[in-house]
Amino acid sequence: MATTEAPASTETYAFQAEINQLLSLIINTFYSNKEIFLRELISNASDALDKIRFTSLTDKSVLDSQPELFIRLIANKANNTLTILDSGIGMTKADLVNNLGTIAKSGTKSFMEALSAGADVSMIGQFGVGFYSAYLVADRVTVVTKHNDDEQYIWESQAGGSFTVTRDTSGEPLGRGTKIVLHLKEDQQDYLEERKIKDLEEEGKVEDAEDKKKKTKKVKEVQHEWNLLNKQKPIWMRNPEEVTKEEYAAFYKSLSNDWEEHLACKHFSVEGQLEFKSILFVPRRAPFDMFDSSKKANNIKLYVRRVFIMDNCEDIIPEYLNFIKGIVDSEDLPLNISRETLQQNKILKVIKKNIVKKCLELITEISENKDDYAKFYEAFGKNLKLGVHSDSQNRNKLADLLRYHSTKSGDDMTSLKDYVTRMKEGQQSIYYITGESRKAVENSPFLEKLRRKGLEVLYMVDPIDEYAVQQLKEYDGKKLVCCTKEGLKFDESEEEKKAREELASSFEPLCRVIKDILGDKVEKVLVSDRIVDSPCVLVTGEYGWSANMERIMKAQALRDNSMAAYMTSKKSLEINPSNPIMQELKSRSDADKSDKTVKDLVMLLFETALLSSGFSLDEPNTFAGRIHRMIKLGLSIDEDAEAGEEDDLPPLEADVPGQDEGSRMEDVD
Ligand code: ADP
Ligand code: MG
Repeated sequence: MATTEAPASTETYAFQAEINQLLSLIINTFYSNKEIFLRELISNASDALDKIRFTSLTDKSVLDSQPELFIRLIANKANNTLTILDSGIGMTKADLVNNLGTIAKSGTKSFMEALSAGADVSMIGQFGVGFYSAYLVADRVTVVTKHNDDEQYIWESQAGGSFTVTRDTSGEPLGRGTKIVLHLKEDQQDYLEERKIKDLEEEGKVEDAEDKKKKTKKVKEVQHEWNLLNKQKPIWMRNPEEVTKEEYAAFYKSLSNDWEEHLACKHFSVEGQLEFKSILFVPRRAPFDMFDSSKKANNIKLYVRRVFIMDNCEDIIPEYLNFIKGIVDSEDLPLNISRETLQQNKILKVIKKNIVKKCLELITEISENKDDYAKFYEAFGKNLKLGVHSDSQNRNKLADLLRYHSTKSGDDMTSLKDYVTRMKEGQQSIYYITGESRKAVENSPFLEKLRRKGLEVLYMVDPIDEYAVQQLKEYDGKKLVCCTKEGLKFDESEEEKKAREELASSFEPLCRVIKDILGDKVEKVLVSDRIVDSPCVLVTGEYGWSANMERIMKAQALRDNSMAAYMTSKKSLEINPSNPIMQELKSRSDADKSDKTVKDLVMLLFETALLSSGFSLDEPNTFAGRIHRMIKLGLSIDEDAEAGEEDDLPPLEADVPGQDEGSRMEDVD
């Protein structure tokens, strides 16, 4: 659809719906911190330079179209335009159409949601839609671009739903790169003042490695000058003692696109058989898409002898530390290393090992300050647990960094180390319970006996805890014991043991009766030593899934069902011999093995135990039907009277509510 006044070769495209929404939001939102657009556009230009420089490492000829690498800012007061010009990789026509408007980006929606939840516009870069911040200050944006593989094209839009793309046949040839022309809004023409731009420039991009000298140049038509942005010695090459906190913060911000300062940082060099320098940062917050594996974060930049090699070098840091930002500059790696050869590289493996060690040191340092660590743990506790699961070499160190609420920790969280110092004399194990939330586990029947004995229990209520604890198994020589699984044993005196066994054997007939009633629903029925008040609980095998794990696995839509067959919890019903309900059931079944009420009540007790033990019900309606019957009983409503002529109700198990309802309706008719 070409507009009338445009040249014949102009094509008009509609913005993807969410991008369109984002644009109107950017244009209409009142927001004073508009200068962030410059950081975003310079960061894109710098990315484009990085890309062409990286390609040139393996093929020098890609630079022929424009040998000089630069970013320039040009203010033109006559036209009210601010231009950002780079000699980076440029965009093909397809890139223009896809990257600047038609392809949906996951970050678009997330960013708008974040905004409505009170996030700051300056976070835009983290959501992968930084380019559109241009519309904070411009009402029209023109992008002229030339990629080595295509002709020169012009992209233009005044927002308002569409943009145009035109082959540039008459404009000045760029050679290679991108020129972004911002036609400034009337009230934003401050940005044409040199002083203002210079101030902002200081916050510009990370220095690129090549030492570039300050250069000034005059352009004829419009009086202005520009400075190349990259003038300083790289910060990581300097002596840490001479770098100020502000310099680290500025470096971190430009590296990460974060608007807040980092929480902690470590600047170090490794010397010896291998040499590298590095600065690592821990951010204050987790990015919105940390565990979205399709999104590759910008984490560790790799340099070799001051030459930038790549953003986000994945092979230098394990996945669980993917929130760490920073740079590594190696003296030993070859300059022409590619992503493929990196994976096999021995030097890189050693660097990685050192980086992990330093990261754990850094986190341990944070843990020395309680408030900072609480903040850190809330944001990145999951990562540490992922580490416990996946990094067997550092498992013990990572375990020291874990924190949990417990039956004794109150509002604070406790470390495993502190738990151990509070262990009772003779206590062999570290007890924990897993579940959906702290509220759900706090009053669990499984804690009754442990509480009475004064034994502390850790609350593990994060799904990932289940995975981590499977690998952790023990801490400081003490076994970690799940109190909802089989094999929970307590110390007891000879007398206590004898009394317990006697009681158990007197309840054995009832156990058999219950097992007969429940059939395959339970593996076995036995007398419990872990409950004090509740009539019964359901425990799972020591090595199978816990109730909580079963819940987590059921919630994973795409899971592989083959695991479920043998991992699904084999449940055992444990009954409490000192509970009056159980005592009454015992005396009834002793008197008459086929007592119908025993059968009904056992089903009800079983289903209730499923719920209180953290499982879900396969047939909630059957359960509801049973409860309603109980309520009627409690209210002395006569079932027979209501059911009319039907004098013999089927037993409770066959009580399918829908059917029952139906037959009653018929009776009424
Ligand atoms: P992000 O930088 O997070 O990808 P942006 O919205 O800032 O998101 O940019 C979108 C895309 O547009 C970039 O990924 C890049 O492909 C392209 N782009 C933007 N500016 C430039 C530029 N100066 N040179 C080359 N490509 C660019
Ligand atoms: Mg960007």
